[in-house]
Amino acid sequence: MDLTFSTPSVPVIPVAGSQDFFPVHRIYCVGRNYAEHSKEMGGTGREAPFFFMKPADAVLPVAPGTLGQMPYPSKTNNLHHEVELVVAIGKAGSDISVEEAGQYIWGYAVGLDMTRRDLQAESKQQGRPWCTAKGFDYSAPISAIYAATGLQNIESAEIKLTVNGSSRQQSEINKMTWNVHEIIAQLSQFYALQPGDLIFTGTPEGVGAVQRGDILDAAIEGLGNLRVEII
Ligand code: MN
Repeated sequence: MDLTFSTPSVPVIPVAGSQDFFPVHRIYCVGRNYAEHSKEMGGTGREAPFFFMKPADAVLPVAPGTLGQMPYPSKTNNLHHEVELVVAIGKAGSDISVEEAGQYIWGYAVGLDMTRRDLQAESKQQGRPWCTAKGFDYSAPISAIYAATGLQNIESAEIKLTVNGSSRQQSEINKMTWNVHEIIAQLSQFYALQPGDLIFTGTPEGVGAVQRGDILDAAIEGLGNLRVEII
């Protein structure tokens, strides 16, 4: 069999403390998973989880100790930051129970679900998909992936984001409406999860706009920092 052109390369993310790279299969995202963020977006704070996706090659991997560069996207005047815990899946499965969900977690990372908020607001109003608001190129800056085996207490870790040194978002992972195991269980009812899948688990309150030249510093206790400049 001849291919019409060479196979596109698989996006990969560095593994912390290793020479290995984690190959990305799909990127799933959870909407409104912290009560206070749900309220700031106009919800009640108690909705069931819902999901959307970004293309796998939307990742912008940033190695530890380096500063990533995210191009300001076209067609928006309101680019927002959303700091999120990212779960990296290491094993295939469907209809996974909450009790067994932990076995499917390979590791964790710090991620930014960058959002064209103006296009998202328009999509919501018109009842249209969110793809252009959420799934654009470089819309998923992500730190190195930390193996779950070396981590403790991620479920109660602090999550925060500063822009140019000023605090914008600060919360705790245990304030999620649906915890990581519940998210895996629910998502796996809709999709067969595969090794290489990433799940962005939702953002706490405090989302806001960024401009070219801003330096974003996202951090989750135990996972180090994800630093990105908007260019
Ligand atoms: Mn988000």
